[in-house]
Amino acid sequence: MSFIKVLFVIILTVIFLIFVAQHAYYVDLNFFGMTYKVPLFVIILLSFSAGFLFPTLYFLVKDIKQSGFTKGIINGIYQLARGYPQKAQGELLGAAKRSEAVAWLVVKSLTKRGELQKVESLRLKADTGLVDSSIGSRLLKSGEYEKAKGYFLSALSKDDANLSASKGLRDISFLEKELEVCIKYQEGILKLCEKWEKETQRKILSEILTYASEYLPEKRKDLLEKALDIHRSFYVQALWIKYLLEKGDVKEAKKQIEKAFSTNTHNETFAILSQNEEHLTKIMDIIKEKEDSIDPDVLARIYIKLHLFTQLRPLLERVSKPVKLMALVSESHKDTDKMCGEVVEELFKPWICSCGEGYNNYQPLCERCLTWGKIALRGIKDATGHK
Ligand SMILES: [Zn+2]
Repeated sequence: MSFIKVLFVIILTVIFLIFVAQHAYYVDLNFFGMTYKVPLFVIILLSFSAGFLFPTLYFLVKDIKQSGFTKGIINGIYQLARGYPQKAQGELLGAAKRSEAVAWLVVKSLTKRGELQKVESLRLKADTGLVDSSIGSRLLKSGEYEKAKGYFLSALSKDDANLSASKGLRDISFLEKELEVCIKYQEGILKLCEKWEKETQRKILSEILTYASEYLPEKRKDLLEKALDIHRSFYVQALWIKYLLEKGDVKEAKKQIEKAFSTNTHNETFAILSQNEEHLTKIMDIIKEKEDSIDPDVLARIYIKLHLFTQLRPLLERVSKPVKLMALVSESHKDTDKMCGEVVEELFKPWICSCGEGYNNYQPLCERCLTWGKIALRGIKDATGHK
């Protein structure tokens, strides 16, 4: 199209020149001793035309090259989306040597085929950290934390605002229980992230601080207070109550439990607290008083822990089968029954992630699907909007 336009302009110019030749003021041009009579206007016009023509030709050639580049990328994305990663790679490879954003797509197509090891041999452009962080994410998903860490750090050294790499390093430091490092990464992520995910990242920071309070006893109070300030989840609420009970501040602990009832997060709170008999004994009056609002499974597990068999029996009709079995064998003195109870308890896993992975204790990050805040108490609808 642009070629036709250029041709049209040339034709118009020629017609105009003929008109000018008949009416213009002529000057003498001297070339190698020969004198030519040329209209002055033509000389000026020719200079102008050359000034326009050369850049046009230059951009035309560039445009043809660029459209080949763009076509390759579009075809590549198309094939990748249709489920043909090998075809996609073929289309993208040329462009991937010039643009790291395209190289990132090639890594995606290799990941889909499980052939990430080929990435080295393709000599993709990799100077802004996109490729590194993409390889890191893949390695993290397959559990190769050390290798993944190396790639993420390399990505951050090229671009310290690479959010994906920061998130990857945060997950690894959490999984490796390097919690102070994890908090630093999450604080950085909160600063960097876009407005739409600020709230989610704040919740994650609160959960990490809460989790860290269990591993850093000397900072426990500070971490919990900071977590409570940022976001009040059932997790931080439960650990705060646990802290108050350990400190002997039963009155304040009960106040906090009342709050948990008012926000409908009491089941999760009790499920976390039910691991410690001493704590449960201290708050037994409030549990008895609100018995009817507590989930039967959660309540039964509290009574099993405290060996309150008379309270347990009327509940048996309402509890789930594994809890019923746990309850029945808890009364028995037979070794085989005790063993059976232990096995059921081990396998019960009351906390379930949305991916299906079960956990005996609540934790903010699912180790299987690497998602934050998707673990909920079995059989309880998440009333907190915690996801
Ligand atoms: Zn999961």
